[in-house]
Amino acid sequence: PSTNVAPTITLKDGISMPAFGLGTWLGFDGKGGVQMVTSDDVEKAVEAAVDLGYRHIDTAYIYFTEEQVGRAVNNKIKSGVVKREDVFITTKLWNDKHARQDVVPSLRESLAKLNLEYVDLYLVHWPISTYSNNTVNEIDYIETWQGMIEAKKLGLARSIGVCNFNIQQLERLINSSDVTPAVLQVEVNLNLQQEKLRQFAREHGIAVMGYTPFGSLFPSKATSQSPPPRVDDPELVKLADRYGKTVPQIVLRYLFELGVVPIPKSVKKERLKENLDIFDFELKPEDKDLLKSYDKNYRTIDLKSLWSTSKFYPFELDA
Ligand code: NDP
Repeated sequence: PSTNVAPTITLKDGISMPAFGLGTWLGFDGKGGVQMVTSDDVEKAVEAAVDLGYRHIDTAYIYFTEEQVGRAVNNKIKSGVVKREDVFITTKLWNDKHARQDVVPSLRESLAKLNLEYVDLYLVHWPISTYSNNTVNEIDYIETWQGMIEAKKLGLARSIGVCNFNIQQLERLINSSDVTPAVLQVEVNLNLQQEKLRQFAREHGIAVMGYTPFGSLFPSKATSQSPPPRVDDPELVKLADRYGKTVPQIVLRYLFELGVVPIPKSVKKERLKENLDIFDFELKPEDKDLLKSYDKNYRTIDLKSLWSTSKFYPFELDA
């Protein structure tokens, strides 16, 4: 086991959360759905990650990776590498379970897949509710949140939060209930730095987890619309060389210094190691200016084609 362990932050409910995690979503299948799981890559990656020092794993009901995450974590507990309380496991409620009475049973289903008694964090995956065929339903997330509060009261989730909410939706949620989300998970990367949303979260003591932290950095993820930079951008490479780090490490370090908890996904051991190795240096202000200049309010994940008709669709429609 390595000594490269991320610092922890204390959430507003008093729970402590590692400020860096591992993503486990395998991506889209090219037909508007989620990639099916066809190998045990995720299980192996999670085991390798725990050995390397990762202590926070992000999954979701809809990723179909909960079983693999659970097997890996339980193996590492059984073999004495970690104790249950040393790892922070996040999963998410899918959109077709937004009715208040569906929330706790859905979490119980995830816990059965994970083979765990509790998760550290349970997130509402989207403010949008859908039927199981993915068409828009309009259950209000205010109702869903009451189910989330029950999950916390039952001890099935230590902390609760939301993903993909905009400022108005967060405000409405906060005003509707005594329990403020402890965490907001949204897309944050060089092209989408989310300054306003981060500011709002800071004012309300909500921790921000950043998904898709690499955005369009890798050519495999970039489209013809994606703004620069790519991973081989000469200015970025030069910057990274000055620190003896790689461009992906510089990007993750930048997000960490913005106060965001990055959750990069990889199933490759060398990359898992590379991505975690960002806690032994600090970026200079002038270098952060360059990194800030890539912020173009460009979203990698918008799901506009699926759900833009929902009254709870959270993102700008004209972008
Ligand atoms: P990431 O930005 O984490 O990028 C993942 C891609 O980058 C993979 O193709 C991976 O390939 C590759 N990669 C990782 N590290 C490196 C490296 N050092 N060098 C080169 N390539 C690398 O994208 P994700 O969309 O997966 O986001 C991260 C996580 O955030 C998800 O896995 C999921 O857990 C969460 N998420 C949450 C959402 C939500 O709505 N709440 C939405 C989207 C994501 P390989 O595996 O082959 O290494």
